[in-house]
Amino acid sequence: MTPVRTVATLRRQLDEWRVAGDTIALVPTMGALHDGHRALIRAARERTCRVVASLFVNPMQFAPDEDFTCYPRDEAGDIASFLDAGVDLVYAPGTRDMYPHGFATTVTPGGAGEGLEADHRDGFFSGVATVVLKLFMQTGADVAVFGEKDYQQLVVVTQMVRDLDLRIDIVPVATVREADGLAMSSRNAYLGGDDRQRAAGLFRILMETRGALDAGEPPDTAVRNAVRRLEEAFDAVDYLSLRDPVTLSAAERRAGAARLLCAVRLGGTRLIDNVAVTLPGGE
Ligand code: AMP
Repeated sequence: MTPVRTVATLRRQLDEWRVAGDTIALVPTMGALHDGHRALIRAARERTCRVVASLFVNPMQFAPDEDFTCYPRDEAGDIASFLDAGVDLVYAPGTRDMYPHGFATTVTPGGAGEGLEADHRDGFFSGVATVVLKLFMQTGADVAVFGEKDYQQLVVVTQMVRDLDLRIDIVPVATVREADGLAMSSRNAYLGGDDRQRAAGLFRILMETRGALDAGEPPDTAVRNAVRRLEEAFDAVDYLSLRDPVTLSAAERRAGAARLLCAVRLGGTRLIDNVAVTLPGGE
């Protein structure tokens, strides 16, 4: 399969499918595919006739000190994996196709796009929201699939769809994990030596914190204990926070369903993960 590089070619193909009555799902990715991406493609295939996967390492969502230049890239391997997973079209625009000379309009999400990742990654959600909105407009897809692995991103995209009246359904997919619980991520390739094993501690601590909350531990105590353990296990803790699962507003003092989100650093690698929790006092 030859990837489509330009919006014009993309639209020509997708218009043909639409005229034939086909519904279309979009699965945005930055490549270096793993089973998490494949779960998204499966969810897309269950919902629509045609599946478009995008493959674009978006420079706009990397801060100058981040890993844009060394982000794992394997276009030929990714295209073969997409095909194997049942993708109908791979859209792999070049940077200049996505951001032509003179490009000057961006989306800046407030609300769920503030705090957490945004406090540690300058311009990240503006880069994500801008490219995701462009992909939505370029494909006119009926459905787009996103992973819960990047929970804040999922909420930011859902918020953007609501705020800007976009005609697209966002489908969330549960995080796919390695056997030891580590959330699959293209960046796990950076974890060498002991770090790969140490990385699994993140999910373990999140799950044990969930267990403590289930057992009735007050949320502030559970979070304090978890931060202490994370600090022992990792080189730095960027945040550990209990949030409302829909708006991402602070949830420590509420009862019922919440999301526990975390980012830590291990060597030069940043790990993020999150789990659903129930805060004591709720039904
Ligand atoms: P990326 O290629 O890392 O930008 O991710 C593309 C999409 O795959 C995003 O919607 C991610 O949330 C999703 N994704 C990444 N890792 C996982 C995972 N382990 N489980 C489920 N979805 C994932």
